Amino acid sequence: MAHASRRAELAAAMQSSGAGSAAPLGLGKRCSNLFRDRREAPKRRLDLSSFCHVLDIDTSSGWVDVEGLTTYEELVAHTLPHGVMPAVVPQLKTITVGGAAAGVGIEATSHRQGLVHDTLLALDVLLPDGQVVHCTPDNEYRDLFFGFSNSYGTLGYALRLRLRTLPVKPYVKVAHLPFDAPGAFFSALAGQCQGDADFVDGVVFGAQQQVINRACFVDAAPWLSDYSFEHIYYRSLLDRGVDYLTVQDYIWRWDTDWFWCSKNLHAQQPLVRRLLGRSRLNSRFYTRVMRWNARWGVTRRLARWRGHFTESVIQDVDIPIASASDFLAFLLREIGILPVWICPVRGPAPAAEFTLYPLTPDTLYVNFGFWDVVETTQSYEPGHFNRLVEREVMRLGGIKSLYSDSYFAPDEFAQAYGLAHYQALKARYDPAGRMLGLYEKCVLRA
Ligand SMILES: Cc1cc2nc3c(=O)[nH]c(=O)nc-3n(C[C@H](O)[C@H](O)[C@H](O)COP(=O)(O)OP(=O)(O)OC[C@H]3O[C@@H](n4cnc5c(N)ncnc54)[C@H](O)[C@@H]3O)c2cc1C
Repeated sequence: MAHASRRAELAAAMQSSGAGSAAPLGLGKRCSNLFRDRREAPKRRLDLSSFCHVLDIDTSSGWVDVEGLTTYEELVAHTLPHGVMPAVVPQLKTITVGGAAAGVGIEATSHRQGLVHDTLLALDVLLPDGQVVHCTPDNEYRDLFFGFSNSYGTLGYALRLRLRTLPVKPYVKVAHLPFDAPGAFFSALAGQCQGDADFVDGVVFGAQQQVINRACFVDAAPWLSDYSFEHIYYRSLLDRGVDYLTVQDYIWRWDTDWFWCSKNLHAQQPLVRRLLGRSRLNSRFYTRVMRWNARWGVTRRLARWRGHFTESVIQDVDIPIASASDFLAFLLREIGILPVWICPVRGPAPAAEFTLYPLTPDTLYVNFGFWDVVETTQSYEPGHFNRLVEREVMRLGGIKSLYSDSYFAPDEFAQAYGLAHYQALKARYDPAGRMLGLYEKCVLRA
């Protein structure tokens, strides 16, 4: 009932605010994990923040009904007491369910479960004209069901989603397997994806240092580690062969240090860590600081003062496993960002083609996550290093997430992201062009 009344209020608000406004619709949201600087063009901001509730959990059928602006932190807090978790939980607590479905969500269960959108059973989408449609894989809105992922709020907003869940046990045992050569590392990664691990991810620390983290649910733990304050998870991968965490601490293991990016805020120094305190060691706080830095250009100015030039390279890319070693060699040679997060992901089942994020069915991909600033003494054209990444990803038959900077030419973009499908979806669901287009939003930063 509460969900229905929130919808009725929204419909009334859209009717009263929309008349006569030519500005495109935009989502009014306080926290975002979008890492591209946007031009502040006028937008008709739609406040959907009240759509942040977990509505229903069915443990026997294995699904949860949740509103679109619910954060994964909230969702996990609701599901764990029922003995289940969403089948894929992106690592950052503030990512919302709608954001992960409209973008591309991934985690260490993805070797079996696929991406967040592969775990979707149904979704209700608020269209730009105020209508709400219920989309499933086999109803009249199946084109939107399969075209919603990677649409980034340009076709409509997810108000309610039904996601698959997995049963959990109280603890997770993590084995850290060391490697000293990319070839052996990626072939062992493929092997682990065939096995019975509940979670598989990895980290590349260098050309001669990689670690696979193979994790399984367990009923009991001989000891428990805590990486939510003084100890740093990614460093433990090199120090410990085996580790035990509660399932909740395992799910949020990367959030405390934003993987390792907290180092840019000096938050890995023991004194700074204590001064910041447990409550600030999380992605929510770091994102705020980063946005402040982007607004005032502090890092860029400091680099210029030292005579250096900077380019932010914050990317997640999916590469077919057969080309993973080649991509890593390129990354180490041309970009040089370390560490790199590695997450295997299963391509979709043949019948489930997500049109705007096309992956080859039943193929194993490797997600490479690399997030840092490339600093050089030589000046390059804007986006030089990001362009190198885009070209290499396309050359190797991979695909890049669009949450950060993109520089694709229109024809490359059309080829990479199923633009023919997108145009058909846009014509059906936003014929008046009330929302921005995908290229305008993701490449032109409108
Ligand atoms: C450093 C970094 C690391 C990341 N690592 C991971 C990772 O490991 N795993 C992972 O899964 N993801 C990761 N992401 C990507 C993240 O999942 C996406 O950026 C996701 O879209 C963010 O969701 P959000 O809820 O924060 O939405 P926002 O950042 O607020 O919005 C993202 C986009 O989605 C649209 N959107 C938001 N909510 C809705 C909705 N309800 N309906 C329709 N459109 C909507 C917005 O309009 C916007 O275009 C990472 C991002 C960053 C910056």
